[in-house]
Amino acid sequence: MRRKIVAANWKMNLSLAEGAALVNDICAGIPRLADDRKVVIAPPFIHIPQTVAQLAKTDHVHAAAQNCYQESAGAYTGEVSAGMLKSAEVEYVIIGHSERRQYFAETDEMLARKTDQALANGLQVIFCCGEPLSVRDADTQNAFVEAQLKDGLFHLTAAQMSNVVIAYEPIWAIGTGRTASSEQAQDMHAHIRAVLAAKYGSEVAAATPILYGGSCKPSNAAELFACADVDGGLIGGASLKAAEFLGIIDAMV
Ligand code: 13P
Repeated sequence: MRRKIVAANWKMNLSLAEGAALVNDICAGIPRLADDRKVVIAPPFIHIPQTVAQLAKTDHVHAAAQNCYQESAGAYTGEVSAGMLKSAEVEYVIIGHSERRQYFAETDEMLARKTDQALANGLQVIFCCGEPLSVRDADTQNAFVEAQLKDGLFHLTAAQMSNVVIAYEPIWAIGTGRTASSEQAQDMHAHIRAVLAAKYGSEVAAATPILYGGSCKPSNAAELFACADVDGGLIGGASLKAAEFLGIIDAMV
């Protein structure tokens, strides 16, 4: 049975005090989760020690980072290494978010190296993929996403893939209020699983969680998560309010 995961990506939001209050409220309201259900919270780097300390009391809520650097150490002012994240007891790292690709010019080659750094340091990777609107309008999204997966991940071994979660986030659905329909999400998730199966075999494909991200909220989460190949969500805006995030967690339970 593959894991189901609801992950919060706070992006560049919340003061330390606001972050602490939000994690408190989430921990207070979270239902009992089965062993194969996980909640992940990815705050900005500066929140991480505080968030990790707060989550130490919970069983099924794990801390993540939103990024890491592709080198292990050195003169890279402003960057944070995967080893540092591990030393802070972070368990997951988001790699390849479309905002990193777009605003910080992260290439597939950089993302492949970031993934290597994360895995070498014992972190689980949440690897993001997803097409812009122009690609969706041209109906070439399957080939586009397949290329992102091949270029970012397919140098990994099958054993390494057990520490990779994929997040499909169509860019036209991020922060726009325009969610992919459950049919569009299911079609792409099934395609991603088929691409994984062709490269790594059906066992790896069946075991890899594939999350949906893009305007996911309590009102649409249950329908999305009910799709056969949608194993949870990566949540932006709705993860910043405890009641909304808890509502989405409820949709996974
Ligand atoms: P929204 O949920 O705000 O659309 O953001 C999705 C996202 O980018 C999560 O990583």
